[in-house]
Amino acid sequence: MGSADRATVSVTFAGSGDAFGSGGRLQACIHLRPDGAPPVLLDCGATSLAALKRCGFDPSEVAAVFVSHLHGDHFGGLPFLVLDGQFSGRAQPLTVVGPPGTAARLDMAMDCLFPGSAAAARRFAVRVTELAPGSTARAAGVEAAAWTADHPSGAPALCLRLAMAGKVIAYTGDTAWTSSLIQVAAGADLLIAEAYYRDKAVPYHLRLADLNTHAAELTSRRIILTHMSADMLDQQGRHGYETASDGLSLRV
Ligand SMILES: [Zn+2]
Ligand SMILES: [Zn+2]
Repeated sequence: MGSADRATVSVTFAGSGDAFGSGGRLQACIHLRPDGAPPVLLDCGATSLAALKRCGFDPSEVAAVFVSHLHGDHFGGLPFLVLDGQFSGRAQPLTVVGPPGTAARLDMAMDCLFPGSAAAARRFAVRVTELAPGSTARAAGVEAAAWTADHPSGAPALCLRLAMAGKVIAYTGDTAWTSSLIQVAAGADLLIAEAYYRDKAVPYHLRLADLNTHAAELTSRRIILTHMSADMLDQQGRHGYETASDGLSLRV
């Protein structure tokens, strides 16, 4: 057994909610800390700074943020994360890996919320790596692979597969069912899957019904549901899936 076989990744759902605060939950923000490496985030919704601090995490330790798509509940926390770093004396660079268009949308978001902040001098670099569907990128020791999600957001939306410390964490992001999810999930140690509604057909989102229909094709070792509306939160304990909640922490 090599050291990678024994390594683990601490996964904490700092935010596990949808865009609209269903169940009082905070927006998407999954904190991943591989053994012996700095933490990274998988999505950074608008509420993420509060979510991280609630969990006792130091936001300035976050080395990279992997963004599934450019909706506010998935990337809207970045301006706050950057400004918090500026005011707390952050020195280490921050890498943002997101779909094509991320650099321009981040600048727009910063200047809309805090005018002048996009071009303000900082003691640390914010680097943006744009990741097109079908390609890979590496940041903070994490290898990310991206597939096209079916979820309009003014830019391509991504389903992501992150490899770190010998583990693979797959993430649907927000998407209608797409056969790409079979590859995204294949053999992953953990699949974090949107389950927005139970079986109501909401465009561009995954339902519990879709996961059930395709259960045999999703070959990850473990699945945890997230991004649940009130409709799904009412189903807690009535389906066989593990579910995320704000602050839920596990090791893979
Ligand atoms: Zn969302
Ligand atoms: Zn979305």
